[in-house]
Amino acid sequence: MKIIFLGTGAGATFGSRRMKAGIYVKGEKTSVVLDMGTGANFKLEDIGLLDFSALFITHLHIDHFNGIFDHLVQRKLKGLQTLRIYSPKGLTEVLNTYIKSGNNIYAEVIESDLPSAEIGELQIYSVKGCHSIYDVAYVISDGKKKILYTGDTAEPCEDILKESEKVDLVIHESSCIDDCSKWGHTSLKQLMELFPRKKLILTHIPAQIEDEIKNFAKGYNIAFDGFIMDV
Ligand SMILES: [Zn+2]
Ligand SMILES: [Zn+2]
Repeated sequence: MKIIFLGTGAGATFGSRRMKAGIYVKGEKTSVVLDMGTGANFKLEDIGLLDFSALFITHLHIDHFNGIFDHLVQRKLKGLQTLRIYSPKGLTEVLNTYIKSGNNIYAEVIESDLPSAEIGELQIYSVKGCHSIYDVAYVISDGKKKILYTGDTAEPCEDILKESEKVDLVIHESSCIDDCSKWGHTSLKQLMELFPRKKLILTHIPAQIEDEIKNFAKGYNIAFDGFIMDV
């Protein structure tokens, strides 16, 4: 599998140095996107990867889904197939509000507490995260390798930690250096204690403190917008 980071900024990121959350996962024949925060949709357009098979949303915080609506406009203009979106409950209501207020967009939304699907050769399932609102983390496998993408979560989070032991790569949110548990997030300090360095990719970075983060997490893989990695 190939992972392309579309947006690596945290919700608190100010400005356009890092777009909001989103990763593109490319299998041999099938591709899916996990989360589409503001700007992650523009990154998709910039690199010409508009046509993928499904979108999976971790939770309904703006920085994880706000890029969907603009993306749906582009799909409509380009005559692309209807997008299937897997999400925890609530996305249909938000989408319908946009449609009712006069936007000519459409998506097939499949809501459930723990979204899962088999899309081509990719198997995707979710486990419950530990965040300030209902949230899931996704595990994707192509039959050879397995990736865990956490969305937002405060560690230690039992289900996520359990899954992390079975995967080849953990793409984890990293929203502060010291302690951001009261906002439902994980600090760099915790990540360093809980996960082996080699398995870990840090994302969801507040761009305004990224120099401090890079300094603190020397030797760790810190994602950036457009970063591509083979798994
Ligand atoms: Zn977030
Ligand atoms: Zn969140």
